[in-house]
Amino acid sequence: MSRPSSRTSARAEAPRRLVVSFHDLHPGSRAACARFLDGLGALGVDRISLLVVPRWHGDAPCSEDAGFTAWLRGLAAAGHDICLHGFFHRVEAVTGGAVNRLVGRHYTAGEGEYYQIDAATARDRIDRGLHILAQEAGLPVMGFTPPAWLLSEAGRAELVAAGLHYTTTFGAIDLLQHDRRLRAPTLVFSCRAAWRRGVSRIWVRFWAWVHAGAPILRIAAHPCDFEHPAIEASLWSRVRAALAAGRTPATYRDLLPGDPAPVPLRPRAAA
Ligand SMILES: [Zn+2]
Repeated sequence: MSRPSSRTSARAEAPRRLVVSFHDLHPGSRAACARFLDGLGALGVDRISLLVVPRWHGDAPCSEDAGFTAWLRGLAAAGHDICLHGFFHRVEAVTGGAVNRLVGRHYTAGEGEYYQIDAATARDRIDRGLHILAQEAGLPVMGFTPPAWLLSEAGRAELVAAGLHYTTTFGAIDLLQHDRRLRAPTLVFSCRAAWRRGVSRIWVRFWAWVHAGAPILRIAAHPCDFEHPAIEASLWSRVRAALAAGRTPATYRDLLPGDPAPVPLRPRAAA
C-alpha cells in the first residue's frame, strides 16, 4: 500500500483559515460591530480583526469615549485583534493625473488617506494614532490597514519604522517586519450605490468560487453592510460557506510569526 508523500499530507493537514475583519470601527459604528460580533459568535467565530479609526472624519479622538474603549479592551482580552485603520479615514487632496484622481477620489469616495501620503505626514499620523489607541485607550495594537487598502511607498516604510507587524492589501497580508507576503484574497461588498450593491453581491460570489482553495480567505465587513438587508444576507452566507468548507477562524495577529508583542510607542516630540 502506498503512503501519501509527506508533501501531500502536509498540504492536507495545513489548516485553511478564515480571517473576518470589521472596518471603520469608531464610536458611531460600535452598534453595527456589536451586532456583527453577536452573529459571528453564534456561528462559532470568536476572533476577528477590528480596524479602528482614531479620529473618524475629524471627530474627537475615540479614546474620549470611555464606554467605547472599555468595550474594545474587553474584546481584545477575549482574543480579537486591534488594527490601526488610518487616522481620519479621509483624504484632504488628491494630486496627479486623471488616473490618480480617479483612484484617489472616485474609487475610494475620498477615503484614500494613505494613497499619496508623504513620509512626514504618515509618521505623524501613525504616531498620533498609536498614541490614541495604545496609550490613551490602552489597546494592544499589532497592525495597520490603510483605508481602501491604498498605501504609498513612503507610508509603508513608515509602518515598518514604527514597528507595526502587518499591513494588508486587497489580495495579501504584508508581514512588515519579515518582508514577506501571505496571499489572502478578500471578499468585500460595496454599498455606496444600488448598482454597486447588486454587482458586488454577484462579484463576491464569483470571487469566493475563484479562491475556494486559498489557504487564507478574508471576509471584510463595513458598517454600511448592515444598513442593506440584501448585502447583510450575502455577508452571512459567505461566512457560513467558509465555515462549512472547514475553515478555521483566525485574526491577522494569529498569522504573525513568533507571537510578537504589541507595537511599542515612540517618544513623541514636544509640542
Ligand atoms: Zn475603511
